[in-house]
Amino acid sequence: MGPEPDWMDLEDRHEIGVYAKRPISLERGEGARVWDSEGREYIDCVTGVGVALVGHAHPHVTRSVAAQAGTLVSAYEIFYSEVRGRLLRKLASVLPGDLDRFFLCNSGTEAVECTLKLARAVTGRPGIVSAMRGYHGKTLGALSATWGKDYRAPAEPLLPGIRHAPFNNLEKFCAAVDETTAAVLLEVVQGEGGIRVAEAEFLEAVEQRCREMGALLVIDEVQTGCGRTGKFLALEHFGLEPDMVCLAKALAGGVPMGVVACGRRVHGVPERFHSSTFGGNPLACAAALAVLEVIESEGLVDRAEVLGERFRTAILDEKPAGVRKVRGLGLMIGLELKKKAGRFLGPLADRGVLAMLAGNTVLRFLPPLTITEAELDRVADTVKGVLSDAS
Ligand code: PMP
Repeated sequence: MGPEPDWMDLEDRHEIGVYAKRPISLERGEGARVWDSEGREYIDCVTGVGVALVGHAHPHVTRSVAAQAGTLVSAYEIFYSEVRGRLLRKLASVLPGDLDRFFLCNSGTEAVECTLKLARAVTGRPGIVSAMRGYHGKTLGALSATWGKDYRAPAEPLLPGIRHAPFNNLEKFCAAVDETTAAVLLEVVQGEGGIRVAEAEFLEAVEQRCREMGALLVIDEVQTGCGRTGKFLALEHFGLEPDMVCLAKALAGGVPMGVVACGRRVHGVPERFHSSTFGGNPLACAAALAVLEVIESEGLVDRAEVLGERFRTAILDEKPAGVRKVRGLGLMIGLELKKKAGRFLGPLADRGVLAMLAGNTVLRFLPPLTITEAELDRVADTVKGVLSDAS
């Protein structure tokens, strides 16, 4: 046997190159910590973009996934499955309002894709209105609703009938919604767009405009969902009553799963109109059910609120140099800096904290909701240290 190959080199050589890689090879995780191939330990505030919400290798999730993997992994949706039924019941019980019918898929972009199709099919209208700086995924339909020009331009032409209107600009946004609009698609906290929280009056006006025009309201909770912001859905901070909600990322603890949750206005969906080979597979259902049980039994939604406040206070108390604003809700936190934020990621990692960007000037933190107070304080101290060293 020859020497171990260099795994990083293999990825660089054989992937198509769409990810800006960092020179860290992750090997193992437990709770809020991950270890790389050199044995270095980090507190993980990337969590696969908010996926490891209940922490890495949570024993209840691990046991459930292992048990299901040894029982049945695949049961195409033309058949019934007990674990799927249990998950659907659980989802209906934790989601607000009349969101009690679901389509199960495998990712955030697929969930969004499905809502676009459903909105058109149910209303018979072509139009979708989404927000500037919004992010909804990169498959062609979802990409058409995503704002970033760099993502869009190489794939054009995109779907017709999709308009972008300014986020938090009540008048301009409402003016874009008319009788040709099938749905408004919105994040309540824009994640990729810089951790920007919607204003209550903006959301209220948009919801009202949707009702007046007969358009559906679709809220993309792919990044904000499952308790991250201190409510199970971020829209619950604002009392919205959406017609559809998209979930993914954290839902199945890292096993791929997306969900579209539908309310009463989404009805009359034609049979065979949509489907997914892997959607609703028992493995992902078992994982998601376990994650939802952990969120409930460990009180993680409330914990997100309390710890988010603790982190914000720790950062703001000393007003570290270079910070323009701290934004976010719960444990979805963005530090808007006065300068480009990318140069801080390396120094943070060198001191044992993994963070990521949300736009050029925003450092984003999405720690597990199970992170300990001591770990979170260490993150805050490390951030302050790195920022003050740079000033
Ligand atoms: N919507 C939002 C709000 C997201 O943050 C993301 C992922 N960053 C997506 C959709 C797309 O999810 P996925 O990468 O699973 O397709």
